[in-house]
Amino acid sequence: MTDPAERRTCSRAGCRRVATTAIEWRNPRIHTGKRFKTWLACEEHVPVLREFLAARAFPLEIRPLTPPTERVR
Ligand SMILES: [Zn+2]
Repeated sequence: MTDPAERRTCSRAGCRRVATTAIEWRNPRIHTGKRFKTWLACEEHVPVLREFLAARAFPLEIRPLTPPTERVR
C-alpha cells in the first residue's frame, strides 16, 4: 500500500524535486480551528512558498521532513 505521506515531492507546480521541508499553513478565512494544510518543498522552493504565504499574512510553520526510516509506526 502506498502512503501518500511517503511521496515527498515538492508541492510547487511543475517541480518534481524531492521535498526536504514541510510548510504547514492556514488560511484563517477558510480554515477554522486547528486545520492546517501541508505543503512539501524542496530546498529551492521553501523561500518561494514561504513568501507566497507571508504575502497573504497566513500563519505558517516550517519544519524539516524527517526521513521515512526514522518514522515510528
Ligand atoms: Zn521545488
